[in-house]
Amino acid sequence: MRAMVMEVPGQPLKEKKLPIPAPTGKQVLVKIIACGVCRTDLHIMDSELNQPKLPLIPGHEIVGTVVQLGSNVEKLKVGDLVGIPWLGFACGYCKYCRREQENLCENALFTGYTMDGGYAEYTVAFEDFCFILPSIYGNPSGAPLLCAGLIGYRSYTMAGPNAEKIGLYGFGAAAHILIQVALHQGKEIYAFTRDGDIDSQKFAKKLGATWAGDSTITPSAPLDAAIIFAPVGSLVPKALKDLDKGGSVVCGGIHMSDIPSFPYQLLWEERMVRSVANLTRKDGLEFIALAAQVPVKTETTLFPLEKANEALAAVRDGQVQGAVVLVM
Ligand SMILES: [Zn+2]
Ligand SMILES: [Zn+2]
Repeated sequence: MRAMVMEVPGQPLKEKKLPIPAPTGKQVLVKIIACGVCRTDLHIMDSELNQPKLPLIPGHEIVGTVVQLGSNVEKLKVGDLVGIPWLGFACGYCKYCRREQENLCENALFTGYTMDGGYAEYTVAFEDFCFILPSIYGNPSGAPLLCAGLIGYRSYTMAGPNAEKIGLYGFGAAAHILIQVALHQGKEIYAFTRDGDIDSQKFAKKLGATWAGDSTITPSAPLDAAIIFAPVGSLVPKALKDLDKGGSVVCGGIHMSDIPSFPYQLLWEERMVRSVANLTRKDGLEFIALAAQVPVKTETTLFPLEKANEALAAVRDGQVQGAVVLVM
């Protein structure tokens, strides 16, 4: 099979011909239709996440079809349309798994980081960590749901059911999905972009944002929650300033630059700051059902597999509206 491989962090991916992997035990072999490109892939390549398997096939927003079953597979069948997310495995017995926090599992494996991922024609995945996808997502438009959508959704649930006015900081792949879900549930969305990024502000307004503007500007109303997708720590005190009493700042990214110190006054009146790590399968099942019901439509820019380095550069520049997806 063809695959794009990270041999050394910090260097461009290399196109390789590799044997098709064989599924064992509870694994299935999946023929990949498309794989999203996520900012986390850049954090891995830049060694900001520094425990990758090497060599590594990155990619954790995989849409594909099951083509072969391991000997102990019980649920999936050949021909099933599946999505494969970042959480590739959780042990089920550590203290976090036992208290429904498998996203924090001590023995977790992560797709495209500690297991090979989707920048390839085929991959193997544990059946219990694949999601059956509705047929409308059996194409590249489904890929961004698997991380941008899922982590966005988990961040959104952390904002709490009472949040009515929600700020999204960084209007990229995650935000353009989440705004559709939030509007469907009657929320008001305030979109913050890099200063002067008029195109993204227009994109947010087109998708139904109540307000869109530079991240340094005070929004037109105090917010009940602020969800930060941009990996920029200085947005945390800024978002706290934008919050109403009792509101929360949810940091949705896996890596962020340092957060500058700020006066306690910004946190006072029960404002909160929290991070979101990974996902649980419950998040995935809830979100995929909800996405199909809305129905969420993703905006994608497609690159062929062998152009993965160019696709990563497009994510880094932030010049692409919506999500970047590799097609096989
Ligand atoms: Zn991701
Ligand atoms: Zn565990």
